[in-house]
Amino acid sequence: MKLVSKVATLLAGAVIGTAAIADDMIIGVSWSNFQEERWKTDEAAMKAALDAAGAKYISADAQSSSAKQLSDIESLIAQGADALIILAQDASAVGPAVQAATDEGIGVVAYDRLIEDSRAFYLTFDNVEVGRMQARAVLDAMPKGNYVMIKGSPTDPNADFLRGGQQEVLQKAIDKGDITIVGEAYTDGWVPANAQRNMEQILTANDNKVDAVVASNDGTAGGVVAALTAQGMEGIPVSGQDGDHAALNRVALGTQTVSVWKDARDLGSAAAKIAVQMAEGKNLSQIDSSHIWTSPGGTKMNARFLAPVPITQDNLNVVVDAKWITKEALCAGATIDLCK
Ligand code: BGC
Repeated sequence: MKLVSKVATLLAGAVIGTAAIADDMIIGVSWSNFQEERWKTDEAAMKAALDAAGAKYISADAQSSSAKQLSDIESLIAQGADALIILAQDASAVGPAVQAATDEGIGVVAYDRLIEDSRAFYLTFDNVEVGRMQARAVLDAMPKGNYVMIKGSPTDPNADFLRGGQQEVLQKAIDKGDITIVGEAYTDGWVPANAQRNMEQILTANDNKVDAVVASNDGTAGGVVAALTAQGMEGIPVSGQDGDHAALNRVALGTQTVSVWKDARDLGSAAAKIAVQMAEGKNLSQIDSSHIWTSPGGTKMNARFLAPVPITQDNLNVVVDAKWITKEALCAGATIDLCK
């Protein structure tokens, strides 16, 4: 909505109440892609929360192109977005678009992935903790041996947050000589086929002498398990995150050790509510449950972190009870107690 009509709405709002403001409100969402299953869940939750607030949802899908994401954001602004929610494809490339928005007084939510700009609100799950949970579950299952680290996309700051948390948990065992990291690779674009190729190369380079894999999400875990299966090695500990249905089924089958579950429904609706507050003109510090977080680069940001939950064979009921997945989908082909 343009400034003039915003003022008109504000004046009208003074007479007929604040609902008129929300009715005219437009929230623009810039997605990096929909490669992982979770993003459609995030989107549905955002739409529902915006609908409940009487705000309009407009969106664009950058289809993994950081250049397209820049023009997408320009276009969302041109369409009158009062606030933006941005899932960055490339954290550094998106910077100019965020500056353009904030220069125009349009609030920005850095959604799930960090955008290092103190004028943006950073909403995510605690990614370092996700990394710790992944490593902890794999370490419990394999306290000694040769480890492989399959990281996320190098343009996504989450990749290194996760890797940092993983290292914290493994450090002691590495120092003792119990664990050796025999291979490590980023996964371009978080693409499962890239993770599979990296895993195949690491297996070859190590004559298959690999005992456990810390993979950074469920998509890359899928690629890893495919590479392991081709060598008859499926069943060694592998981590992931997101609660993808295929990954939760692998946990039930025993080919994946843990999927750190982040309820994307909660993140999506929180983002919508924050964007609405921004569009209403609230200061970043006035946003519900915000705290100040300092980035590794020293930028202080208003932020909110939601808590992740590690899902292993021991607590698969949690995702069923939360209606995240049906028991049928979870249990396909599995024989664990929960599935009987
Ligand atoms: C998200 C993960 C997701 C990955 C690939 C990360 O930034 O936190 O949930 O699996 O991107 O989309």
